[in-house]
Amino acid sequence: MKQELKRRPLGTTGEHITEVSLGAMNLRTLDTEVEGIAVINKALDLGINLIDTARGYSEEKPDGSLRESEVLVKKALTEYKGLTEPIVIVTKGHGYDIEAFDRDLKTSREKLGIEGQTKLTIGGTAIKLVYFFHGISQDRWVSMKENGVLDHAKTLQEQGLFTYLGFSSHNGHEECIDDAIKSDYFQVIELPYNVFAPGLEDLIKLAYDKGIGVINMKAFGGNGMVSKTEVFKQYCDISTQKRLQFALASPYITTVDAGCKFIEEINEDVATAMLPKLSKVECDQLIGLAKRVGECTEGTCRECTHCLEKFECPQDVNFPKILALHTRYKIANEFDYEIETIKKKYVAIREEALKCVSCGLCKEWCEYKLDIPKLLQETQYLLK
Ligand code: SF4
Ligand code: SF4
Repeated sequence: MKQELKRRPLGTTGEHITEVSLGAMNLRTLDTEVEGIAVINKALDLGINLIDTARGYSEEKPDGSLRESEVLVKKALTEYKGLTEPIVIVTKGHGYDIEAFDRDLKTSREKLGIEGQTKLTIGGTAIKLVYFFHGISQDRWVSMKENGVLDHAKTLQEQGLFTYLGFSSHNGHEECIDDAIKSDYFQVIELPYNVFAPGLEDLIKLAYDKGIGVINMKAFGGNGMVSKTEVFKQYCDISTQKRLQFALASPYITTVDAGCKFIEEINEDVATAMLPKLSKVECDQLIGLAKRVGECTEGTCRECTHCLEKFECPQDVNFPKILALHTRYKIANEFDYEIETIKKKYVAIREEALKCVSCGLCKEWCEYKLDIPKLLQETQYLLK
């Protein structure tokens, strides 16, 4: 018999959500709409019953057209046939006052092609709409509590314009997350949680205890960590699969939002969800490993190459290529791997590295604000 994805209660809403859900954010980056729709179709084929999108998930293409994640969801659901139960759609807006909330909600409903009130549909397919305040921070939360948007949102929810109200937020906003969870306005929230940054676990548990459904975002560590793991995967095993297993092991999370871009990824994530859950001991070991990696690569280059998309060193120094050896050296050193090969690679490109005149022009183009000239000097010191 075909194994099916397990489901967990979405707090006390009465909905039951598959342990892995589809994050549609990255679909905007694909070259064609067809590819994005194919990923959504695959997720639905696999039984996934929650798709996570947002008003802000859009990207301008070279021909000037806009690729919007919400529109992809609309097109996919309109074409998809054979769903026997409502699909839960999460979308998010930046409306932190009444006027902006109304505007964003209206736009999202239009872009998603949502029809009806209370009984919501997209292209004839029944849906439940979870509407989020996207990315609340302390300032935003204080203003939201004062300007009436929370009660306004509650009224619109009662009128059936959306089914559940929620919010998303990030590390560093613990105070307002705590307050918002306790405020009784929200039925669903979305927070980051992963083996590299498990710090919001207590708030996730608080939400769970309050009967709020929790969507786990950034389970793989966020974009910066994804590129970093390419560097350290040869030294220690905190693979994509392990990271997903880590998130799935939390009993307080309803579903892990797997931000897929390709059909292979969603296939792999669903296969991982079918594996036995990690034990507490295994999770703690992974956290320990991730902590070691995090500490020894603190402030090192992640090889994301985002800087090179916008900037060219006037001395023709390909600094990410050189700094990649610096990061590898740090990890190899921490995990007692041989470092002679890394040194040899550096010697082969040392001439280029020494062309750096420490002008510092590259610094502002680094996504992570690294002190690149200083790192290049450190590389020369360690690997010469
Ligand atoms: S220097 Fe910064 S932006 Fe460039 S590849 Fe390294 S981490 Fe990324
Ligand atoms: S600091 Fe070095 S690597 Fe950066 S732009 Fe100047 S010369 Fe190039």
